[in-house]
Amino acid sequence: MTDPRKIALFGELLKESFPGDHVHDAEDFERDCWFYRVAVGSSSSQRHRVRVSAEFLDDNDEATIKTKFVTWRLADVIRGAGNRQVLIANGGPEVVGQKDRDPPMITTVSAHGLSRLRAFIREHEYCGELTSDVEAERVWMTCTCGAVISRVLEPVT
Ligand SMILES: [Zn+2]
Repeated sequence: MTDPRKIALFGELLKESFPGDHVHDAEDFERDCWFYRVAVGSSSSQRHRVRVSAEFLDDNDEATIKTKFVTWRLADVIRGAGNRQVLIANGGPEVVGQKDRDPPMITTVSAHGLSRLRAFIREHEYCGELTSDVEAERVWMTCTCGAVISRVLEPVT
């Protein structure tokens, strides 16, 4: 059974390291781990996730936990991990998982734009060579006769 004072102590150390942020109390996330969440202010938006192994809390006294929190630079590690989970065990801190990336934006041409592009293709099909190009926000079609059409790409919602 993990000493509740040590569980509370670790939460206090997090609170001191992230002033202004809300540290959610430890949850018995898994049988052998304690799970803390650091959120911006009192909002529910999650900033950091910290998982502390029960073994680490059991094997170290309160003074040692405090010392290791400092010498392992846990506040910096947690801050640097962003939204990745930080696992703290006797071997030291470990950042788990990949940094979340922005999902790629999927864009398309509006239905109206699409019918205009189809019409352009029909119109110039037998006229010359058609080439198309996609930029960040636009799709272009050109014909060797000099005709050009471009349509704006919109994010798919
Ligand atoms: Zn043409």
